[in-house]
Amino acid sequence: MLDETLFLRYFMDFPPASSGLLVLFGKTDPGFVFLLFLRHIGILSTHMQSGKTNLPDFENSEVAFRNQSNGDLRRAYHLFRVVNSKELVWLGKSLLHISFALHLPVKGFIRNTLYRHFVGGESIDDCSKTICRLAGGNVQSILDYALEGEDSEEVFDATCEEVIRTIEFASHNRNVPFSAFKITGLARFDLLEKVSAGDPLTVGDTAAFSRVKERVEAIFRRGYELDVPVLIDAEETWIQPVLDELVLRCMAKYNRQRAIVQNTYQMYRRDSIARVWQHHRLAQEGGFRLGLKIVRGAYMEKERARAAEWGYPSPIQPDKAATDRDFDEIIRYLMEHSETIDFMVATHNEASTLLLASLIDAAGLARNHRGIFFSQLYGMSDHLTYNLAEMGYNVAKYVPYGEVRTVMPYLLRRAEENSSVKGQSSRELKMIRKEIRRRSKVMH
Ligand SMILES: Cc1cc2nc3c(=O)[nH]c(=O)nc-3n(C[C@H](O)[C@H](O)[C@H](O)COP(=O)(O)OP(=O)(O)OC[C@H]3O[C@@H](n4cnc5c(N)ncnc54)[C@H](O)[C@@H]3O)c2cc1C
Repeated sequence: MLDETLFLRYFMDFPPASSGLLVLFGKTDPGFVFLLFLRHIGILSTHMQSGKTNLPDFENSEVAFRNQSNGDLRRAYHLFRVVNSKELVWLGKSLLHISFALHLPVKGFIRNTLYRHFVGGESIDDCSKTICRLAGGNVQSILDYALEGEDSEEVFDATCEEVIRTIEFASHNRNVPFSAFKITGLARFDLLEKVSAGDPLTVGDTAAFSRVKERVEAIFRRGYELDVPVLIDAEETWIQPVLDELVLRCMAKYNRQRAIVQNTYQMYRRDSIARVWQHHRLAQEGGFRLGLKIVRGAYMEKERARAAEWGYPSPIQPDKAATDRDFDEIIRYLMEHSETIDFMVATHNEASTLLLASLIDAAGLARNHRGIFFSQLYGMSDHLTYNLAEMGYNVAKYVPYGEVRTVMPYLLRRAEENSSVKGQSSRELKMIRKEIRRRSKVMH
């Protein structure tokens, strides 16, 4: 059975997933690879009978952009052409900082470009149209109030109330399966840093930290009362210890039946696999369900720069291949433990997405299994999102919302991550170009 042709056929049927397997070849013993291969033979034989796979086809631009007008596509094309250039992004970022400092009227320009593409609206109500449009393609939405880097108690309280409103909104909207928030929207960064480092707190700090705990507790409690799972985003590694502690405490309280409280693990961290294992063990010992989202991680440059400046070993993987390897390894782990873990794979990476899709099928799980989600950011990777949804998998877009000024850090991160040479933007451009060509052929 295991002849060379069959093996090659396997790699041809699963070209992106094969990259993960080839990495395994270098790292793991051949026996394990062989076992993995055997696990897939069930799917393989089906494909061989039908002559094609039943997995999503990420090259299908027609499905990907079905609900975008020609005008939308053209706008997106120009936007990604601009953010594709590192120099232009750098220049734009500097000009924006200056313009905001000088109170120049740049909001209108941002609103019609980056904001329009990557943000759902200013308020929850504003996002309703976006949510309906996504739902038309069987895509769900996760409202993400995109406020970061504030430092007043009033703003923290207001953000907490806003996150609770997203939970209440989700509880009566079947197209919104989760809520999400960032701890830095609820707490001073330096306070989180101090608590994480175990530094002594002043009386004022201790009182402020009690309020942070109350806010986090209030959010998860509301999620529990209304049966809406709530994801907490991961940010810089040096504030993660306090976050893990708060989240695990809430998980023990609220994740008895279902994973209402969900943490995030950045696989560009060298220690993330070990942390997932450890937290899973704690969940099993404590009799609660682990809930989590995995991402690769969005703060790589900042992490490396701080480690170099402060003279400690970088917590980040040595290269992209190591991040990819851990990301795919944890997908396998999560699939093997899907009975005790609810999880979301949040990525724009085709190989990892296809790996999860094929493992769900190989395990014989329903594609809309309640505990397994794919997710992409609004305005990015529609070719993954819509093709997954088309094939019946659970997929949700993270839809950030907020006023122009408050979403600026988020927008700048998106612009930067799209400007790397082999980055996201080339992939977006390739798909948009393909769809524009396809539509013009259909018209002629
Ligand atoms: C729905 C959703 C939610 C998200 N939530 C969070 C969150 O809570 N916290 C967060 O930090 N990020 C979050 N992100 C962003 C995410 O971490 C990534 O920055 C982004 O998705 C790009 O990674 P990728 O897997 O999509 O694709 P890819 O393009 O395959 O990977 C790019 C990523 O690989 C890693 N990488 C690149 N070069 C190297 C290198 N030389 N060495 C090591 N690693 C490298 C970096 O993490 C980089 O972002 C989220 C993304 C999505 C889609």
